[in-house]
Amino acid sequence: MGLFRKFRKKLDYLTSDQIDYIHKAYLVAQQAHRGQKRYSGDPYITHPVAVASILADLKMDQSTLASALLHDVIEDTTLTNQYLKKHFGEEVAELVEGVSKLTQIEFNSRAEAQAENFRKMVLAMSEDIRVIIVKLADRLHNMRTLEPLPPHKRRRIARETLDIFAPVAQRLGMHEISVELEELGFACLYRQRYRAVKEAMRKARGYRKNILEEINYDIRAGLQSHKIPFFEVTTREKHLFSIYRKMRDKGRRFEDILDVYAFRIVVDTRDNCYRALGVVHNLYKPIPERFKDYIALPKSNGYQSIHSTLFGPHGVPVEVQIRTNTMDQFAQKGIAAHWLYKEGTAEPDAKSIKNQQWLSNLVEMQKSTGSSLEFIENVKIDLFPDEVYVFSPKGSIFELPKRATAVDFAYAVHTDIGNACIACKIDHKLAPLSTILSNGQSVEIITSKGARPNPAWLNFVVTGKARSCIRHYLKNQQRSQSIVLGEEMLSKALRVHGKSKNKLTDKIKEVVINEAGLEKWDDLLESIGMGNRMSHVVAERVLALANDNKDSEKYSDDIKPVQIKGTEGIVVNYAPCCHPIPGDPIVSILRSGRGLYIHHQQCSKIAGARHDPNHFMAVVWADDVVGEFDVNIFVSVVNGKGVLAAITKEISDAESSISDLKIGERDEDHYELTITVQVKDRKHLAQIIRGLKKLSCVLKLQRVVS
Ligand code: MN
Repeated sequence: MGLFRKFRKKLDYLTSDQIDYIHKAYLVAQQAHRGQKRYSGDPYITHPVAVASILADLKMDQSTLASALLHDVIEDTTLTNQYLKKHFGEEVAELVEGVSKLTQIEFNSRAEAQAENFRKMVLAMSEDIRVIIVKLADRLHNMRTLEPLPPHKRRRIARETLDIFAPVAQRLGMHEISVELEELGFACLYRQRYRAVKEAMRKARGYRKNILEEINYDIRAGLQSHKIPFFEVTTREKHLFSIYRKMRDKGRRFEDILDVYAFRIVVDTRDNCYRALGVVHNLYKPIPERFKDYIALPKSNGYQSIHSTLFGPHGVPVEVQIRTNTMDQFAQKGIAAHWLYKEGTAEPDAKSIKNQQWLSNLVEMQKSTGSSLEFIENVKIDLFPDEVYVFSPKGSIFELPKRATAVDFAYAVHTDIGNACIACKIDHKLAPLSTILSNGQSVEIITSKGARPNPAWLNFVVTGKARSCIRHYLKNQQRSQSIVLGEEMLSKALRVHGKSKNKLTDKIKEVVINEAGLEKWDDLLESIGMGNRMSHVVAERVLALANDNKDSEKYSDDIKPVQIKGTEGIVVNYAPCCHPIPGDPIVSILRSGRGLYIHHQQCSKIAGARHDPNHFMAVVWADDVVGEFDVNIFVSVVNGKGVLAAITKEISDAESSISDLKIGERDEDHYELTITVQVKDRKHLAQIIRGLKKLSCVLKLQRVVS
């Protein structure tokens, strides 16, 4: 009898009739489970009572509590559904039936089966959401008492909890339960990691304490001085599983995650939420992009709160959540809070309305979609609105943010795959790498040896990993290319002064890099190649150190300009004003931080820079220059049918392609075109020009160099 008396203390929010009804359910359950024991050796009835207690803490109604007490009787005892209907009414009989059905479901943790799991879950709760609430409480108590079970059972239940039950609780806004399920699942499944994070957390608590108290004091003082009544300021400690998940998924260090000080301010009214916000923004500067008003715009699960991140004392980031007491109840209890506020009308019940809409949508979706995979893709969009799920060819599931592309997927699989990807197949069909992925697609990445990331990918990738990998690669590439160029430029500058770079001793190098405040000789070459340092200035310093100034007047005979090979990559740029092509006389201008710009010698843009030795450098084309180079041709043509077609055909017949085409002046008889074509060299260009001149529609034609 002691068992029920203890439980009864939690029921003071119900009427005595309702409590009697619950007591009757207790007696029936106790009778039915008589003689049964749990793994721990405790009488079985302790479990349904514990489940009902969890629900009583959520202030659920009497039908839910009675169903919780009876939730295992159909499954594990001789009692029938008919019996329940007769003695407790249709509502409870159906709830117990629903929970029993859910219990019978064999959830499968394999990726393909997840779809079916969710479908079953959603079907069960679409009848009456309380079924899932009872089930979550049942699971919570089972997780709390997992220890006596054999290891393989423990692991299966914990896995299922992390994969299915915790996310469902989260979706229903039942934050407290979802967090506890996660912590318990984490502790069971990853024992070592759990202990490590816990220990690190314990150690960190000490040094955090003073700062937390300081901030807490500041906020309280601020709220008091602005006469905001009935407030509560609490610090929030991060949960171990969420810390671990951030470390795992975002590759962040423990210190970085913990280096955030989180507070919650609970006030009485909505107006005071905004006033409290004013107080904290007045206290500490807010970080611009980190402000969210979920009070005005509730989350899809109905969550309401104001979030802001501030620059706290000593530069520590301070996360603040501000909400009313009612919003706080919803935030903790989620959909379960619906029953708590059912009778009163303290505040509009945004959350439960939204959830009910969500559920009825699900039921409709379930009716209209045939396959369970299609259905689950839709459900997942709702459960995890900001993610897409795609499959690798082997069936592994990958979770990516919305608008992720094939390149994001490639990097999610492995950095090397991202770096070497050249194409992809989506659902077995070739598709561009920039394709935005949708739920349920299978994605296969095609790689090639020697392929490299394309800077243009940065325009469409959305994951941090892809972005940082591409940047990292480009940076490295730019560095190695700059070093090669810088070396060539320096050796040319030394030759000008009649000194071979071979005479550069290690000692001189060391002095020069020390003076420049750099660490390595390569750093110096890189900065020359990038145009941040003048090669002739470095050369002069080298000569001075070698005490070789006498020779500096004597110019060597073999002064050779730097050769342009066309393979330099991103540190050598071809000026878009004059479009130099191999065979053209060229010069180069060094632009700080951008590398070398190659111009046509006749380009009008370089007139001013021509006599500036700091930036101007002689260059020639290498004999074996490779690549396709843009060049502009100005054409005046007669206005007639098929003229453009004839011109483009002629260009493509000459094995060139058009990269741009602008139509200029135009009248009835003729018009002017500026065509940018790609050529290998001057010979190639001459061939194209000859071909075009033969066309009867072409009146005038010339290359544009300016
Ligand atoms: Mn149970």
